[in-house]
Amino acid sequence: MSKQRAKLVVGNWKMHGRLAGNTALLQAVAQGAGALPDDVRVGVCVPCPYLAQAQALLDGSRVVWGVQDVSAYTEGAYTGEVAAPMAVDFGASLAIVGHSERRAYHRESAELVAVKTQRVLEAGLTPIVCVGETLEEREAGKTEQVVGVQLDEVLAKLSSEEAARIVVAYEPVWAIGTGKSATAQQAQQVHAFLRARLVAKGAPDVALLYGGSVKPENAEELFRQPDIDGGLIGGASLKDQDFLAICKAAGAVSVTQ
Ligand code: PEP
Repeated sequence: MSKQRAKLVVGNWKMHGRLAGNTALLQAVAQGAGALPDDVRVGVCVPCPYLAQAQALLDGSRVVWGVQDVSAYTEGAYTGEVAAPMAVDFGASLAIVGHSERRAYHRESAELVAVKTQRVLEAGLTPIVCVGETLEEREAGKTEQVVGVQLDEVLAKLSSEEAARIVVAYEPVWAIGTGKSATAQQAQQVHAFLRARLVAKGAPDVALLYGGSVKPENAEELFRQPDIDGGLIGGASLKDQDFLAICKAAGAVSVTQ
């Protein structure tokens, strides 16, 4: 019997946004989120320079905010890095770690992602740990092996209490920014696999998000799957109406609906 969990929808703005345009987007999201069922949680992960703006415009709303990466260190001579406690100074509560763009373009290893997850938890933030396979790996039948190793590396460094505080996002690399989402069945299959590992770790209720070309048109079917607890949304999070439509899709399948 699958358990009904609350839904979580988080926008990943990536390296997009400008001070002026962000205001309208953040205000619209804050307003729209106010009308969602209570068990739909909404977040946005913005570029670090806009954390103060997110705090100013979202504080007191239903929308939480966060960053898209953190340093593996807490403080020191690490030019260009942003430490998790710095994000906390701006009211952040989320931090994405291990996004495939960081793993690919910044050569982040599974080990580094695990250390970053620890730093995020120590700072009191919720890490959104991204895992996902490339098209080549999927076609070679290695999806479970790849995402299993990525998740296991993180879980190995955490107690079951710490593991219970993470969020995991399954983001097939071939679906990110391509317009080609995984089908609901493909995503559910991988989510069920990840869930089994989290159950074995003693953290069965971790929110498992799907990410990769989620749009208003495909969100509800994805969110109806028993092990899909919401979404990590890239491109569509930059348009208030699309992002809010995806949040509403989460509301349509939520527990209180
Ligand atoms: C992402 O970058 O995390 C993502 C899911 O992007 P998109 O929704 O644009 O595929």
